[in-house]
Amino acid sequence: MATLRFQALKETLNRKPVEVEEKERRSELFGRNVFTESVMRQFLTKEAYQSVLEANATGKKIDRTIADHISTGMKEWAISKGATHYTHWFQPLTGTTAEKHDAFFETIGDGLAIEKFGGGQLVQQEPDASSFPHGGIRNTFEARGYTAWDPTSPAFIYGTTLCIPSVFVSYTGDALDYKTPLLRALQAVDQAATDVAKYFDKNVNKVQATLGWEQEYFLIDSALAASRPDIQLAGRTLLGHSPAKGQQLDDHYFGSIPSRVLAYMRDLEKECMLLGIPVKTRHNEVAPNQFELAPIFEEANLAVDHNSLLMDIMSRVAERHNFVVLFHEKPFAGINGSGKHNNWSLSTDTGVNLLGPGSTPMKNLQFLTFFINTIKAVHDNEELLRATIASASNDFRLGANEAPPAIISTFIGSQLTEVLDELEKVTDGKLSPAEKTELKLNVVGKIPEILLDNTDRNRTSSFAFTGNKFEFRAVGSTANCAEPMTALNSIVAKQLKDFKKEVDSLIKGKKMKKDDAIFNVLREYIKDSKNIRFEGDGYSEEWEKEAEKRGLSNNRNTPEALKALVSQKTIEMYNELGVMNKVEVEARHEIELEEYIMRVQIESRILGDIARNHVIPTAIRYQNILIKNVRGLKDIFGDGFQTHSREQLEIIKEISEHIEKINSGITDMIEARKKANKLEDAEEKAFAYCNEVKPFFNIIRYNCDKLELLIDDEIWPLTKYRELLFTR
Ligand code: ADP
Ligand code: MG
Repeated sequence: MATLRFQALKETLNRKPVEVEEKERRSELFGRNVFTESVMRQFLTKEAYQSVLEANATGKKIDRTIADHISTGMKEWAISKGATHYTHWFQPLTGTTAEKHDAFFETIGDGLAIEKFGGGQLVQQEPDASSFPHGGIRNTFEARGYTAWDPTSPAFIYGTTLCIPSVFVSYTGDALDYKTPLLRALQAVDQAATDVAKYFDKNVNKVQATLGWEQEYFLIDSALAASRPDIQLAGRTLLGHSPAKGQQLDDHYFGSIPSRVLAYMRDLEKECMLLGIPVKTRHNEVAPNQFELAPIFEEANLAVDHNSLLMDIMSRVAERHNFVVLFHEKPFAGINGSGKHNNWSLSTDTGVNLLGPGSTPMKNLQFLTFFINTIKAVHDNEELLRATIASASNDFRLGANEAPPAIISTFIGSQLTEVLDELEKVTDGKLSPAEKTELKLNVVGKIPEILLDNTDRNRTSSFAFTGNKFEFRAVGSTANCAEPMTALNSIVAKQLKDFKKEVDSLIKGKKMKKDDAIFNVLREYIKDSKNIRFEGDGYSEEWEKEAEKRGLSNNRNTPEALKALVSQKTIEMYNELGVMNKVEVEARHEIELEEYIMRVQIESRILGDIARNHVIPTAIRYQNILIKNVRGLKDIFGDGFQTHSREQLEIIKEISEHIEKINSGITDMIEARKKANKLEDAEEKAFAYCNEVKPFFNIIRYNCDKLELLIDDEIWPLTKYRELLFTR
């Protein structure tokens, strides 16, 4: 009897929404558990406070004695809020966050104890971190890794622990985490963009990258999730026939939020408020039981931290509500997958969004400069961007007809396309006064009006311009945004540096006026980067063909996509910008390949187990029932039984055929795994898992799903798609 499944269903049907109290206004809760500037002013000495601000603004190092003052103030604040422990909170390359809690409590002899937290403990720690992935950076003899405080992201209290956002580096200073290269990339883009922004406004001294992510996820009742070994271990279903009704009716998108889910969201949002995560938007997504949460955008490093923290909180709050959050990019076949759009822009310390249209032609020349340089950067590095979003789980989503394709392209809308077409006609060399007026007033001057009604959004584009920001839509829902953000900010930094060089040389060498020089360089960029622009349907086959003609990459699987991570071009670019050295880049490549191998390996094992231990025995049991039935019919009808049991015999045969295919599929898959495991080289092994092991998933699944349709529902052991997606 399929007891676990039915128990889970019963439990789910009996659930009530968990009460969530909201006595205080959200604005009052906001940031209450964060060591914000105003809290610092209260708890720190003036000197200590100033030095944190300075570290934020200029990256200036914090003096060790001052660190002692800061740690004391931080400890006082944390204890006043009930914290008992502290931790360096960091993002190792496992994709989750890591923390090791230490108590403030310390004994001082004579049976006495105090609460202690020194500057040394704030600034640097040495967790026993030898089991985090390191891609060969740390040899065992120097297995030490250090976490170091990142003062640009404020400390916060979660539960009863003071969490200190930190970087994680090896003994040799090489990055072992997501945050370190991101911080370096943000610094690179700050410098390059500030230099270019000064063409337009001398007062600009700093440029920040901004990020607004949109987190999609599925919520499944915890009892139902526990009844499925694949959801429990792999975070997705490895088999399951699609339900009669899926998302065809589009009745879930923006529909009314179910009450249990709404209670969960309110609880979650409260937690987010306390931690200073400015969540703003919540809604149903396209698929049943799929939802989205989005905050107001923030400085990119902070936004990345907040997303990592959020994912952690989401799972914890879900426990209280008897839900499990599925972050997987494709938890259900045939149903929409989940992504994490990364909305990105650049903004100056003078309060200007560099990708926002301005009110004057000059401001719009600035807008066009950053806009076109971004497009050029994406054009020149599309394959790297694709590499940064590659993962075993995102492979199921990219190109799966409802998500962006594996091809990177930019959509900018018809009106901006017209503007670029006009600019392309700029004549070589100096512009005549008439040309300048024409350009400035009629082309560049029109932009604000244009963007006001730039509503023709194209959902099929992987990197779309949406009015005042670019939206990188191909990022997967499980991803740490740091990886794509490191790449994007780096390529834009490199591009802006090159742009500045070219413009300056035209000004100096050809004695061109600044505007002329800028127009001339931008014109060339528009021509050079045309191939990356695509306004049509990104899901269509025609686009695949067209993209191939244009020479754009279409790397459909992770091992293929990851190659660009270690190309000569990428290594040189990261090296030039000081974002990552060769060792760091190669280590990351290795880690991602390993991760891919492990994911496919684990799924392959789970699928083999479920198919052999759950599906086949159930199929045999049902077949036996049918055999008994046929025997009974023979008893009753004698030789005439054939006519009365034709259908039963047919089903008995069909079941045998499926069992045969499943069983031989598993045997062959295990063989393929054994062969793959013998390979030494990580890339070869990843390809073997991709091309030799993974194809069996479909064969096994197909036959299991057919059995699901044949076998008596009463004895089917696996909770069905309909039950997972529609029971609340
Ligand atoms: P959708 O893509 O679902 O239609 P929106 O386009 O409204 O939703 O997405 C808005 C997202 O873009 C929000 O998360 C918002 O914070 C973010 N965003 C808006 N302006 C910027 C900006 N200048 N930089 C980065 N993100 C931004
Ligand atoms: Mg979006």
